[in-house]
Amino acid sequence: MKAVFLDRDGVINVDKGYVHKIEDFEFYPNVFEALKKLQDNGFKLFIVTNQSGIAVGYYTEEDFLKLTDYMLKEFEKHGIKIEKVYYCPHHENGTVEKYSIKCDCRKPESGMIRQAIKEFSVDPSKSFLIGDKENDILAAHKEGIKAALVKTGQGLKYIENTTADFIGEDILDVVENFILKH
Ligand SMILES: [Mg+2]
Ligand SMILES: [Zn+2]
Repeated sequence: MKAVFLDRDGVINVDKGYVHKIEDFEFYPNVFEALKKLQDNGFKLFIVTNQSGIAVGYYTEEDFLKLTDYMLKEFEKHGIKIEKVYYCPHHENGTVEKYSIKCDCRKPESGMIRQAIKEFSVDPSKSFLIGDKENDILAAHKEGIKAALVKTGQGLKYIENTTADFIGEDILDVVENFILKH
């Protein structure tokens, strides 16, 4: 199976910093078109997102899951199916004890991607990741997945010094000019 792994904040929605409320979740306008194209070309879609806001107590895991529900329903309305949302609630310097660990899922570690590969028999050599931070790119490369950096979100901070295989204006640019041209 071929897959595209998506970072969330700064790729799918505007990164307003620790987004955890529906009213703050603003989809980038061309996300739907981009994901529809991937789906129509046989890619399964996954989200892999660091959510250390849970570990530092800015919001709860329940808040995150509620927002995820909303996001998935919006995608559904556009005919887009996200196979699974993987999230890392941890941070080694957190304030909520349960989540305050050094884990192997927080990007740039690749635990979330590794788990998806195993659970869904993903072929890394046919798969891609789209992220707005170098830590997204590094996580993908650890699992042998090609990675594109977008200039949306935090992306502009990293364009001068990235190991990404492609730099795109936004998610749709990456899909049309990198992933679907492979
Ligand atoms: Mg991001
Ligand atoms: Zn983690």
